[in-house]
This record gives sequence, C-alpha cells and structure tokens, in this order.
Amino acid sequence: MTRRELLIGAGAGALGVLLVSCTPEPAPTRTPTRTPTPLPTTKVPTPAASMRSEWATDPFSRGAVSYTRIGVQSATRQTLAEPVQGRVYFAGEATDVDNPGTMRGAIHSGESAAMRLRATVEAGERIAVIGAGLAGATVAADLADLDVEVTVFEARDRVGGRIHSEIDDDWPLPVQLGGWLVGADDDTAALAETVELATAMWRSAEGAIEPPVNAPLESAIAAAQALPADVSLTEALTATGADPEEPTLAALLAYLATTTGAEAEKLSAWFPPAMPLAAAQGFIGDLTAFVQERLGDAQLTLSSPVTRIAYDDSGVSLRLGTGESTSFDRVVVTVPLGVLQREGIEFAPPLPFAHRGALNALGMGHIETIWLRYDEPFWDTEATIWHVVGDQQSVDGGLVLENTVAVRTWINLLPVTGENLLVGIVGGDDAETFAELKEEGALLSALTSLELFLPSAATG
Ligand SMILES: Cc1cc2nc3c(=O)[nH]c(=O)nc-3n(C[C@H](O)[C@H](O)[C@H](O)COP(=O)(O)OP(=O)(O)OC[C@H]3O[C@@H](n4cnc5c(N)ncnc54)[C@H](O)[C@@H]3O)c2cc1C
Repeated sequence: MTRRELLIGAGAGALGVLLVSCTPEPAPTRTPTRTPTPLPTTKVPTPAASMRSEWATDPFSRGAVSYTRIGVQSATRQTLAEPVQGRVYFAGEATDVDNPGTMRGAIHSGESAAMRLRATVEAGERIAVIGAGLAGATVAADLADLDVEVTVFEARDRVGGRIHSEIDDDWPLPVQLGGWLVGADDDTAALAETVELATAMWRSAEGAIEPPVNAPLESAIAAAQALPADVSLTEALTATGADPEEPTLAALLAYLATTTGAEAEKLSAWFPPAMPLAAAQGFIGDLTAFVQERLGDAQLTLSSPVTRIAYDDSGVSLRLGTGESTSFDRVVVTVPLGVLQREGIEFAPPLPFAHRGALNALGMGHIETIWLRYDEPFWDTEATIWHVVGDQQSVDGGLVLENTVAVRTWINLLPVTGENLLVGIVGGDDAETFAELKEEGALLSALTSLELFLPSAATG
C-alpha cells in the first residue's frame, strides 16, 4: 500500500499530520459518506453530509468521459462505431462524433446503432445489449417495436451507468454522481426536471474577478487549425501569446477539464471539445428513472458482467462473470471506452486492427464530483456557478496543505432549489488524484477550496 502525507496547519498555527492511504477500493460507485466529527483544519463549516463519486477506480467505467487526443481524427470515433462482421455493434458516448463525452452523445450513439441494426436484423432474432446506460437503454427502446428479443446485460446492480442519481433519505434531491449538467438550450434537458444555473462568480484570494471569456481559447483553436499538424490546446494558446498558467486562464481551463476530463495539454486543437458553458441547466430529477423507462420490456439482467464475446458469421456467444455462456444473433457493446481499453471484455477473434487502433488512440478522461449538504448555509451569494481562481491558499494564509486537490468548480443549488447543497466538480489530472484520496482528504480538499466563498472573504 502506498501512503502519502497530508500536512495540515490549522489557522492557529498548530500542525497535524494525517496519513492518507492512496490505494482505492475497487468499488463500482461510491456509497454515501458521513462526516461524524468536524475537521479542525479549515474555517469552512463541516457539512451535515457528503457524498462523492469514484469513477476513476470503478471497474465498469475506468474514468468518466472519452476525449480526443492530439493528432487523433474525430473520424476515429466513426471507426469505433463500425459493426464487425455484421455481428458485433458498438455504441456509447465514445463512438459519437458530434457530442462525445456527453449524455447527448450517448443517446445519439444508441440511436445510430439501433438504426444500423434495423437495416439488418430479421424477425425472431436474439439481440444482446451490453450495458444499461443511456446508450444501451436507447438501443433497447429503438428496437422495441421490432419482432426481435432484446436482452440487456448490466455489470452493476443498477441501471444508468455514468448517470447515477443516488436517492437517499438524508438528501432532499437525487445526488447526481455522474452526468447532470447540459447547455442552456440542450434538448436532453427534457430527460428529467432541471434548474437553471445562470449566474457565475469567479473569485480569487483578492476577491471577485472579471469572468473570463472563451474568445482567447476560440482564437487559439482557429489559429491552430491552420497549422500543418495538430497541437494541444495549451500549445495553441501559447502560440497566440496567451499564458495557460495565468490564474484566470488556468481557472477557465480547469473548468473545461470538468467536462472533457482532460488537461488542455492532452486535448486536440484540431478537434477541440465544446467550449466552457457560461450558463447551464442541472438535473434535479431522477435521471435513472428515464433509463429504466427506456429499457421498457427488454429483458434486463443486472449484476452480470460480460467477460468474453466470441463471434463469427453465424452469431455471437457471450460469457458472463459467472462462467455461464449464452448465444445471440448479434450484440451491441455500449461499455465505456475505459473498460474496452483495459480489456475488460475479451473478444474472440480479436477486434480488427482499425477498432483496436481507435480504442488506443482515444483518451479516457477523469471527472469526479462531491456533494455537500448543510443544515444552514455559510455562504450568502446568489451566484449558482462558482469558480476558484489562483493558488490553493487559505484566505488568512494560515493553512498549509500538501497533496490535496483544489476543487475549482462549484454549483450552488440553494438559490434555485431552496436546499443548502453545494456540488464540487473536478476534472483532468486533479480528478484522478481526488479519486485516490480517502474521505478525510477529499472532504478537506473540498472545504479548503470553499474558503474563498466565506462571506468574510468577499471583500478580500
Ligand atoms: C462525473 C461525470 C460527470 C459528467 N458530466 C456530464 C455532464 O455534465 N453533461 C453531460 O452531458 N455528460 C456528462 N458526463 C458524461 C455522461 O454521463 C456520459 O457520456 C454518458 O452517461 C455515457 O453513457 P453511455 O451509455 O455511453 O455509457 P455508460 O453510462 O457508462 O453505460 C455503459 C454501461 O455498461 C456497463 N458495463 C461496463 N462494463 C460492463 C461489462 N463488462 N458487462 C456488462 N456491463 C458493463 C456499465 O456498468 C454501464 O452501466 C459525465 C460523466 C461523469 C462520469
């Protein structure tokens, strides 16, 4: 077991040493975490309850979202979506060219896979769908009117995959541990009840600062797209004279990482991600119910990881984690890119080179989220999206933290729901580190990041 030291100096100057284990449990999703004793290390009050995700270590996601690496064509995703021998089909956010890494992309990929199948299947066929996330549920829904038998195999004991609305008596709203934010005019907003997150606040240790605009990022991308070879977003920015280390631009890039899951230095400028949202909609309804409804009458087998897919011209055979094998005419694989990259499923024969090349070319990024519930709010701002700019320092300079993670993006649900809820989102390398932290370290990271939003800091 690897251990790392987390040095905490309290405001009064006392030093404490907390040993934090960095070896995560391979749990599919995080269970509710309670905080029985106050943390003596930050001025931000300890929440009544907290809950966080752990997608990075989850064996059935191995990360949060796919991203397009430097030098990789977006058509690579099309290659990944190509059926193999008319028997093995692919869907899932990573296979969607237009909106990868999103709920919208996942749904669209399911629609595309179902359309391909509809052109091929014959009456009475048996179709297996692997994965009961948005893509898998969409495939099942779109094949429901055909005379075919659809069976969905899901590794977890719940449906929804990387959308996960955790319903818990201690929480006034479903706790969204996966995807839950969409653009102001995104049509996926119809999936469940949403609230508008329309006002942003950017704050550094010096106080409120002017919100950054996406324009420098957009011009850097436009300039890079005229170059003979692809470069990273970081290189594109530097080439136009911008400094990606400058605190406000760094905060904008950290916000971008909460949707791409990757650092700007890993992202392609030729095939850039969607720009950071100034305003968004957040789901406060149960997204999992939507998936359940889309699965309809399809046979659903939970807690059934598929470990092997054997295929030939006549059909496919699936092996389950239990060792049991079962035969189908065709299969639709919707498991996350991270699972396929880590060979979570064996293919026999191996997938064609084009598919294996595409799997290795794309990147799997990291996003983690932490929800905090308070009995009383300690903040007094009406802004719904908060951004932390600059170094991770205590407001009064009394705190020394090592090996913790700055949670730079926060959603304040109080003004739009009346509930004292704050949601921290962290992306890219920080998210990977955040997932490795134990409860104390993760909570302390979150609370320390919130110091800038204490009312006493507002005039700082
Ligand atoms: C923390 C986080 C924040 C996000 N934020 C946003 C956001 O704000 N807006 C947005 O639009 N999108 C967001 N996303 C992305 C969005 O949630 C995903 O793109 C989408 O949910 C993916 O759906 P999918 O069906 O492609 O994959 P999944 O939902 O991952 O479904 C695949 C299913 O396959 C199952 N599976 C895996 N391995 C096996 C196996 N061997 N056998 C059987 N089943 C298996 C999994 O358990 C899973 O249920 C976020 C994702 C995360 C993790």
